[in-house]
Amino acid sequence: MTTANLSTGLLMSERWAELRARLENLLAELTELDAVSRESAQVVELDQTRVGRLSRMDAMQAQAMSIESNRRRALEIRRIQAALQRIADGEYGECRRCGEAINPKRLAVDPAAPLCIDCANHAD
Ligand SMILES: [Zn+2]
Repeated sequence: MTTANLSTGLLMSERWAELRARLENLLAELTELDAVSRESAQVVELDQTRVGRLSRMDAMQAQAMSIESNRRRALEIRRIQAALQRIADGEYGECRRCGEAINPKRLAVDPAAPLCIDCANHAD
């Protein structure tokens, strides 16, 4: 790696320092929530066995919702980790699909966004 590349890398990480801090905070929050939610899920399960108040349908619905929110949180955690990795690699702010720069306003709203707005609109 040349000296020029090194200094570009430094500038990149300074440029994204604020967004990186936001991503790191988000990641810490989600990781914390994840741990709490797994603990409370176990408690609910035990209570249902003992008290038997919730109907089976209610219990299944509650469980499905909890699985869904755990799934979404896991996805979000992976998205944020990937964004932090792109910052470390100096690839942050580039669309993963077309390589164009992602609009800074888009990154301000969603710092973990992996795609530019055009690609995101055509992703589904
Ligand atoms: Zn794109």
